Amino acid sequence: MTQEYPHAEAVAASLKWQSSSVGDQAGKPRIDEIYACDVFDMRKMRERLPKHVYKSMINTIEKRKRISMEDAEVIATAMKDWAIERGATHYTHWFQPMTGLTAEKHDALVTPDGEGSVVYRLSGKSLVQGEPDASSFPSGGLRATFEARGYTAWDPTSPAFIVRGTNYATLCIPTAFVSWNGEALDKKTPLLRSIDALDKQARRILKIFGTDEGVRSVESTLGSEQEYFLVDRNLYYARPDLMSCGRTLFGNTPPKHQQLDDHYFGSIPPRVNAFMASFEEELFRLGVPVQTRHNEVAPGQYEIAPLFESTNIACDHQAILMDTLKRVAGRYGFVALLHEKPFAGMNGSGKHNNWSMSTDTGVNLLDPQDETHTNTQFMTFLCAVIRAVHLHGDLIRAAISGASNDHRLGANEAPPAIISIFLGDMLTDLIEQIEKGDTKRTLKGGELTLGARTLPSLKRDSGDRNRTSPFAFTGNKFELRAVGSTASVAWPNTIINAIVSESLDYIATQIEGKLGKNPTEAKRDQVVQGVLKEIVKDHKAIIFNGDNYSQEWEDEAEKRGLPNLRSTADALPALQKSEAKKMFRKYKILSASELESRVEIFAEKYITEVCIEAQQMVHIARTMILPAAVRHQGNLANTINASEQAGASCDGLRGTHECFLDLVQQFQDQISEVEEKVHVPEVATLKQCTHCREVLLSAMNSLRDSADALERLVERDLWPMPTYQELLSLR
Ligand code: ADP
Ligand code: MG
Repeated sequence: MTQEYPHAEAVAASLKWQSSSVGDQAGKPRIDEIYACDVFDMRKMRERLPKHVYKSMINTIEKRKRISMEDAEVIATAMKDWAIERGATHYTHWFQPMTGLTAEKHDALVTPDGEGSVVYRLSGKSLVQGEPDASSFPSGGLRATFEARGYTAWDPTSPAFIVRGTNYATLCIPTAFVSWNGEALDKKTPLLRSIDALDKQARRILKIFGTDEGVRSVESTLGSEQEYFLVDRNLYYARPDLMSCGRTLFGNTPPKHQQLDDHYFGSIPPRVNAFMASFEEELFRLGVPVQTRHNEVAPGQYEIAPLFESTNIACDHQAILMDTLKRVAGRYGFVALLHEKPFAGMNGSGKHNNWSMSTDTGVNLLDPQDETHTNTQFMTFLCAVIRAVHLHGDLIRAAISGASNDHRLGANEAPPAIISIFLGDMLTDLIEQIEKGDTKRTLKGGELTLGARTLPSLKRDSGDRNRTSPFAFTGNKFELRAVGSTASVAWPNTIINAIVSESLDYIATQIEGKLGKNPTEAKRDQVVQGVLKEIVKDHKAIIFNGDNYSQEWEDEAEKRGLPNLRSTADALPALQKSEAKKMFRKYKILSASELESRVEIFAEKYITEVCIEAQQMVHIARTMILPAAVRHQGNLANTINASEQAGASCDGLRGTHECFLDLVQQFQDQISEVEEKVHVPEVATLKQCTHCREVLLSAMNSLRDSADALERLVERDLWPMPTYQELLSLR
């Protein structure tokens, strides 16, 4: 029996790559020469635009002012000329519907003029507004299928860019996507609204401290690290589970995987490094400021991290990064897996969401600075985050939920499902001082001397890091470490912006109410300290600096009343609470119906994904694994018969055969059981999510256990799919 997957071919492809790619660097442009060369960056368009249009565009970006139709007309022409010079033939309104992916529909930039020739055209109207058919995107009941109209609206604050490949170059215009009556059908619209809310409330705080002068806006900043796996493309196409679900539904962890910690930060294999360089080069062309690359914990796992940017642009760049990752991987014979848990028994992938707030003048509002105990403004912003996460940790948990991330959260590799804050020694000490009503000192880290005279002494931070915390303060920003690797970062950041806006509003209102007119600095600090003291008292339960993976923390968190929402089915109801509805409505981020639509979309996505996995499992089990097992069983029986006919005793083999028969029988029963339990409902409800989790997933787990037991017994040559060992050994 021959193997049905071309493992040998995958190896051959990688060897071919090695011989053909040596010396690629010769004649290449320097990396700084290509930075953002495919980006229509307004700040660099002074020469292409009339002065007044250029100025009003800069105003739009910096002061968040709406652009006029006349100006849009002029910008459209400049953008079109620029794109055509760079080889673009088409343009698209590029948006982020609720699928979590990006969407595009290309229109030609060139139109026949009716007189036998063609003209290049991009009108102001086509730049500003598009009208894709919205009926096939998830809407969560916001419109009926027959109400097909939807609009895309240009986001002038995020630069347009050109995506190119063999035979194509397409101008992509970032847009928001809304329904016929203006309800948000995407991830960008609520994010932009949340950025506006944060801007408004944060500036009230700055005003209180008199630090608002010259500040035109406050925005959240975001740097999101992306983890991913690479597998050989030929092996990928021999695994129907990877193709349709992005993760393996069957498979045994090989004897050696990550136990020796030899992959993390290990030397990057040459083919992978070559891929990374190409990948980063494309991102650089698109103005995505990527910075860091390294091997991650599991074999075959890697990470890329950009430099942080303002959140709206960082979210667009995150989406571009994921698209580019998948596209470029193919050129090197890889498939990039973004799933949170492609392989059982090994680390999965996440996305660390580094979040802070900054003024447009470049002041990081979460920078504690040296004498932190004198920095009352920092303490105010810090307390706002503490209060926000304590009151609305369940919304953060809901924002990172999903069928794929459920495999990761709480599995001792990613933070647990309990949301808490890590502050470290210095800030914890400061918070205790605030609670006592008197801040007197800032703990210092001091110096580390290393013993050897030639080594430098190191500046020691005032607190260690905590890798187990879901929401950790890391020097001058918070790191939400539980976002899934497949996720769009727009939604979690919408939530963080929203809840922090609410707390900033609360604090500003408290302080403003107590200050009176023209307060002295001393009076202001006294009032602020009083307000912060109460906040610390009420909300310090969210702070936890210990081991988040431990059972003790689970028990302790329960005593503190912190929710432990273990799965998507448990987490989504947070979005239906009246407090949540009120908050989203108050800050004009989501209306009640927009919020409700999200719950329905997330529930449907969860159920559909689990049901696809179940159906795929049944198919693989019945048409690939069972036949292999039956053949193996036949081989065993034939060997026993032949041996006994030849007069040999086969007691041992007979025992093996009988056990194997039992296992095959059990496996068959479990296939039927999964099949019976798959039920794709017409309308998704949270109750059905619970059914999936409690009934269907447990049947799937049992089926997997038997299949994996079979894999350990069936003759290697008969096994119908590449094993983990093969998938994870890149050459
Ligand atoms: P680590 O893996 O140790 O957390 P990395 O260097 O991989 O560190 O990633 C840190 C991320 O945090 C980077 O994307 C970086 O740009 C981002 N970051 C740094 N400062 C800020 C900030 N003020 N706001 C948001 N993100 C930030
Ligand atoms: Mg990190």
